[in-house]
Amino acid sequence: MKCYKAQYEEGTRQFKVSECEVEGDTVPKNNHNDTVLYFKNEAQAQKVADKINKAVAEDKANVVKCKTCGKFFLVDEREKEWMQSQGFEMPKNCLTCRRKKRTEKNNTNKQ
Ligand SMILES: [Zn+2]
Repeated sequence: MKCYKAQYEEGTRQFKVSECEVEGDTVPKNNHNDTVLYFKNEAQAQKVADKINKAVAEDKANVVKCKTCGKFFLVDEREKEWMQSQGFEMPKNCLTCRRKKRTEKNNTNKQ
């Protein structure tokens, strides 16, 4: 089975579709906030890439560089809308780093 990805490019600041290098019949699972998204078919990948590119261009979604690890992550339309409605600031760290910090904080509190 073929696999396609929509990947964020720092240079163009756009998501671009290409065939992925992954072998086998499984398409990797997409994680929320990822800037590399995997699909079974090219049209679907393109559709999602177009949607994100449009939202980013209209400032309805953002690609943010994580302050801690330097990885890019996506704040999609729905998430951004929710954050604004709650009066939250845009996240500065990716989900992985946020989770890590939360765990570290919890561990420190327990000691
Ligand atoms: Zn990070």
